[in-house]
Amino acid sequence: MLTANTPLVQKDPTSPLRVIMIGRISTPQQNESNIVASFAADEKFLSQFYDGPVTVKHLGERGSGLRTDRQSIIEAEEEIATGTWDLVLMEDLSRAYRNPRHQYEFIQDAVDNETRVICIGDNLDTADPNWEVMMGAASLRHGLHIPDTRRRVRRTAEYTFHKGGMVQKIRFGYRKLTKEEAASGQFGPVGLRLAKLAEATPIVMEMRRRVMAGYEYEAIAVWLNESEIPPGSYSSKRKWTGALVSRFLRSCILQGVRRFRETIFTTQFKDGKHRRKKNASPETKYYPELAHMTKEEQEELWIAMDSRTVNSGQKSGRGNPRHGIARDRGIWPSKQVRCAICKGFLERTLNDQLKCKHAFDSDNPCWNHVQVKAETIRQKILPQLLEQLDRHPAFRATLIEAAWASYAQQRQRQLRKSSDLDAQIQQLSKERQNLVQAIRCGGEIEALVEELKAVEGRLRVIDLTRQATEDEASTLGIQSREQFAARLNEGLLVTARENFEFTDLMRDYVTEFVIQPVQAMDSTQVFPRAKLTFRLSAITGSESSPVEIRIVADCFQPSGPVEILEQCRQAKAEHPKWGCVRIARLIKKPHMTVKRSLHYLELMASANTNDPFRELSEKPEKAARWTKRRKNNLE
Ligand SMILES: [Zn+2]
Repeated sequence: MLTANTPLVQKDPTSPLRVIMIGRISTPQQNESNIVASFAADEKFLSQFYDGPVTVKHLGERGSGLRTDRQSIIEAEEEIATGTWDLVLMEDLSRAYRNPRHQYEFIQDAVDNETRVICIGDNLDTADPNWEVMMGAASLRHGLHIPDTRRRVRRTAEYTFHKGGMVQKIRFGYRKLTKEEAASGQFGPVGLRLAKLAEATPIVMEMRRRVMAGYEYEAIAVWLNESEIPPGSYSSKRKWTGALVSRFLRSCILQGVRRFRETIFTTQFKDGKHRRKKNASPETKYYPELAHMTKEEQEELWIAMDSRTVNSGQKSGRGNPRHGIARDRGIWPSKQVRCAICKGFLERTLNDQLKCKHAFDSDNPCWNHVQVKAETIRQKILPQLLEQLDRHPAFRATLIEAAWASYAQQRQRQLRKSSDLDAQIQQLSKERQNLVQAIRCGGEIEALVEELKAVEGRLRVIDLTRQATEDEASTLGIQSREQFAARLNEGLLVTARENFEFTDLMRDYVTEFVIQPVQAMDSTQVFPRAKLTFRLSAITGSESSPVEIRIVADCFQPSGPVEILEQCRQAKAEHPKWGCVRIARLIKKPHMTVKRSLHYLELMASANTNDPFRELSEKPEKAARWTKRRKNNLE
């Protein structure tokens, strides 16, 4: 135990002994009262060796002993530099610093300023002629704490990770388990604090499909946000972004591989601050229970993503097919069709389905939960529109003109894309040839083979994309405006399906476009019926007599009995006395279907209507299949 052989004397005999006491605790687990306790020990020591008047400055805080930017240590150094202090007293050297480099600097600066330093626990007293020996010992002792702690923290973390713990990032499609849940083994391997949300798998796979089909990450993010799919608690913005989509799909947890310490934080000796660095060989552990896709599926996806990065020049700017197109421009009829009940827009959800965007509002939700496929709307409405337009040749011609223009434009884009892809294929083939050559000559075989594999993977993906482009372009084989006009039905459908310009075109003429929920007479099922109005005055230029075309189309597959209503009605009209068996024989349909169809006709007659469906203006008491649908809570 230190005995302070040299008596304590103040520099200025007229003033009390001026003492700085330094206390510090490092981690949040340590109690702040530890600082006070260490000050108490200092004061007890002081009272044993000095009984005159004393001025004490207490400097204590919570912070790492490796940091040089701690407020109390900066203040201590500034005070010492004034040369007015007699003594710095600490429980041990590590209260000031843990890093020997800074320990020496601190003590030596104090000595230069004729301020005595005593570290009680280290037997260090700079008034002792041999103090440097004690300083060396103390420095070694506290300095070694750094690698010791590093090792201990690391060992504990690795152990916990391999036991299923250290769950830090919860990505979309996963859930953190409580200790009890993990221990039960009910949600996966015992101890694993993470579980897959099985209902997220279709969404993850759809994301993958879209990337493989060439969708931009941004477009995928827009789709996810529009579908109200929350990005998981790991995202700080609470919304999907292109970058997040890309990062998410890169994460190997999707194939069931947990990684730990992907980033290494190293503490800089200079100031004790952390620097981050990517870890080349992180800890990994494979859990099949966590996989949303197979290893092969994800690797194929990564190759597609890599080839995208390689050709990133095409991703932005004019090369991008969506360059200059506002985000809110969609493929028809999105952004144009509204809910007949609340007049809100229908929004795209999964699988090309549209539904009222207010259907799941938290306050005052819209009761209309009917869903309709965008493609069904196009297929049901466009032929009807063309049929009606036969009576309005001026508009028909204008429509053909505009549709052909955008079709041709798109065809151009496809050709450009094809030739771009051809160039890429050529480039990669050359690379492959070179690699094969290099392997033959016996270069660094392993690395070369690795590279060759990567090149071949990229080639495969680009080949597939090239083929898909080819298929798209040659589906119709339409080369000229005449051919387009002759096959207007198909041409229009293709244009509508793939062209943003078509959406703009329709916006000019469609004055009303709603999805009306209708209910069957013999069941509680609710179906979507599209109703839209075209206003042709803009075309013909005759404001005085605008022509309006109204189209009503049931956008669903009617049940068997409803489908043959008309046939049954006619047969019944011709043979009023016949029963369902004879009618069934006549129209060649199953007799149970005919029976239900005849019953359906009776229901219509008693309701005094020719419409097989009731248009709903109020929430139906019962609606089959609506009850189960809830807001997807995939968090
Ligand atoms: Zn609505």
